Amino acid sequence: MQYISTRNSELKATPSEAIINGLADDGGLYIPNIVPKINELKELVSLDYKQLSLKILQMYFTDFTYEELKECVYKAYDDKFRSHEVVSLKKCSDMYFLELFHGQTLAFKDIALSVLPYLMKLSAKKNDLHDEIVILTATSGDTGKAALEGFKNVEGIKIIVFFPKNGVSEVQKMQMLSQEGENTNVVMIDGNFDDAQNGVKQMFTDKKFKEKLVEQGVVLSSANSINIGRLVPQIVYYIYSYMKLVRDKEISIGDSINIGVPTGNFGNILAGYYAKKMGLPIDKLICASNENKVLTDFIGTGIYDTKREFIVTSSPSMDILVSSNLERLLYETTKDSKLVSRYMKSLKDNNEYKIEDNHKNKLIDFYGDFASEVEVTKAIDKVYRDHKYVMDTHTAVAYHVCAKYQEQSGDNKKIIIASTASPFKFAGSVYRALKKEEVAEYNEFELINKLSKEYNLKVPYPIRDLEKKDILHNLTCTNKTMKSAVLKTIKGQM
Ligand SMILES: *Cc1c(COP(=O)(O)O)cnc(C)c1O
Repeated sequence: MQYISTRNSELKATPSEAIINGLADDGGLYIPNIVPKINELKELVSLDYKQLSLKILQMYFTDFTYEELKECVYKAYDDKFRSHEVVSLKKCSDMYFLELFHGQTLAFKDIALSVLPYLMKLSAKKNDLHDEIVILTATSGDTGKAALEGFKNVEGIKIIVFFPKNGVSEVQKMQMLSQEGENTNVVMIDGNFDDAQNGVKQMFTDKKFKEKLVEQGVVLSSANSINIGRLVPQIVYYIYSYMKLVRDKEISIGDSINIGVPTGNFGNILAGYYAKKMGLPIDKLICASNENKVLTDFIGTGIYDTKREFIVTSSPSMDILVSSNLERLLYETTKDSKLVSRYMKSLKDNNEYKIEDNHKNKLIDFYGDFASEVEVTKAIDKVYRDHKYVMDTHTAVAYHVCAKYQEQSGDNKKIIIASTASPFKFAGSVYRALKKEEVAEYNEFELINKLSKEYNLKVPYPIRDLEKKDILHNLTCTNKTMKSAVLKTIKGQM
């Protein structure tokens, strides 16, 4: 198996090189040159989460040995997860909430970011890389904390997370500022998420800066969802949840289902697309956006257009206008890296691109729609009234769009909805939706406790007493001083 760049199919890398590099040298994303196929669905039914992970990772990371991958998987999926199956499935009539938030940081990103550090360490060893790896991550909240937890105390690797000082929730901020670990660094940026993201991207493409780092024995890498080492572990839970439905006799093996995914950077739903290409009987991939509905418009019209207002919503992890992983889908549907390259250039120069009609027809696997803020609130309230199930704001976006899809299409196949965050991570919005009232007199931490008491739910232990934790990071920089913050960190001056 080789990995090729979406912008130049001649540019090749081994799986371990792709994991270390994160992004291809031409700015493209790595994708597998062939998508491996599942031989026999039946053989997967009885596997537990770790066994299945091992099987799927083996298909994609072919320059790792069985023993190596086994070590990665078993170290990643230990009792850090509050569900012994890593994920869990909650039935609400013909929809099943696939809870992906039982890891340390209460969002789905824990699942891939628990295994990525082990994959990266082994990749460095395989490629005789003796430099220190420094992971740079820009975050709007969830990725940063999950990456910090994943890479905490991993030898030979340092991690630096940049987040917008006033652009994350109180819970997310405290989660990051109280981060423990010898090798973790957190820096607040005076600016918004785009400033943080652009600053990081700039460092990756600044040759002089990278040479300076090499002199100090340092190479940069990424923990964002552009890294193939994050995408592949996400394929596993779609297959696992399908098999669980078979074991629970909710479906028979071979039956088609639909999946619904609350989408931002298009990473999670793309993993579902790969599961389908591998042979999992998924019919529709339901792509749910919040009011930043660039993807809804793209699936509807074939035009990707970011010339619009950036809206701050109650599902902040999906507040995004440039969905990086869509580039991988563009390659998979066109198989033309020159064309993808042109689209990406047009996006950079003109903030839009339009795909050809014959390629738009290939988006038939996807249904795209969005939920307004009012619809999110109503969805949280309705699912609680009907099923006594409390879901978070991101999951509610997906629920709304899936219900609308069923109503419009008459398609009554069962739907697995990716439930991407614990309601406690966005307790204020969830509590307000359930109570239908303003609760301005309480802070986020008080609302966590109120949600717990009034709805009889246990506060997950990673955020218990979060507000009382010591603040261990207090560095602030601007988008102009990010490089010097990185250099200082590397020299251990922070
Ligand atoms: C990151 C995130 C998403 C969006 O996932 P993508 O892979 O970026 O599409 C949705 N919900 C939550 C809670 C997240 O943290």
